Amino acid sequence: MDLASPQELRPEAAPVQRGAEETEPVERGILVIDDSEVTRQEILAIIQEAQLFDHCYEAAGGAEGIKSLQHNRVDLIICDVNMPGIDGLKFLDLTRKKFKDIPIIMLTSARDMETKIRCFELGASDYVEKGSWKERGPELRARVKTHLELKKSRDRLRELASIDELTQVYNRRHFMEELSREFSRAVRYQKPISFILMDIDHFKKINDTHGHQVGDMVLSHLAALIKQALRGSDVVARYGGEEFAVILPETELEGAVAAAEKMRRTVEREGFPSQDGPLDVRVSFGVANWPRHKVAHVDQLIRLADDALYCAKDAGRNRVVVAQE
Ligand SMILES: [Mg+2]
Repeated sequence: MDLASPQELRPEAAPVQRGAEETEPVERGILVIDDSEVTRQEILAIIQEAQLFDHCYEAAGGAEGIKSLQHNRVDLIICDVNMPGIDGLKFLDLTRKKFKDIPIIMLTSARDMETKIRCFELGASDYVEKGSWKERGPELRARVKTHLELKKSRDRLRELASIDELTQVYNRRHFMEELSREFSRAVRYQKPISFILMDIDHFKKINDTHGHQVGDMVLSHLAALIKQALRGSDVVARYGGEEFAVILPETELEGAVAAAEKMRRTVEREGFPSQDGPLDVRVSFGVANWPRHKVAHVDQLIRLADDALYCAKDAGRNRVVVAQE
């Protein structure tokens, strides 16, 4: 089969930070929402002194704040309570569900205990009383720092919970969430999506001959090779013991077949490092695609790829098989 390279068949998507790559440094952003321009500038000056953020965004009200959240990567919000239009409380009410991971510090008046409590009820992380910023500055900085650190820990925990420790690609649980999300998105926007299931040929023999330690090394080395062969926007996971799965968003069937062939050839050429010298490893692939395969549910897409993978094994292994329509 003469195949074009995956790059020709699949336009390079915008780079997305995924999985283990998220441990790389990320650019942090803060959003300051206040109807007073003077207050915004004072707060931004206080925040910039702490050098915790790479980007500072500002908004003059709740509506503008929501727009900024939709377009920017924000790690922390400082929001005034009293604003015309969408005020601080309404802003909390509108954003807490969708942006619940972003801590929000409210700017309140000193005496209004009722409002402070209401802020917490609506999901605020903290408040700072408005007043002379010369006095309040260090307190605001300290609170911002604390909440940013807490967010970083939460982000890290979530990341660890979604990664397969041995291979450093996504685990199956996280992958299934991603697949459901990507499949719904594909159907909603009428964009193609491909799914590849792959399985190491005769993996049991590798374990039996060289031991489980070598088996583990083969798995982690294979995961690294797979990631290298794919785009940043493709999602790779360890699907089972020696089984891996890939989501290829916005990819036609031909592009997915080319990507699978590229992975297959890469693995075939590679001598897998082991204490017993370089090992030959082979992998079989099953490929399915929506809308080429007329499936209504993501489970059917998986089943089709699984059937194709079975056919690849049955036909002699070390090959790519497309699911039957
Ligand atoms: Mg105000």
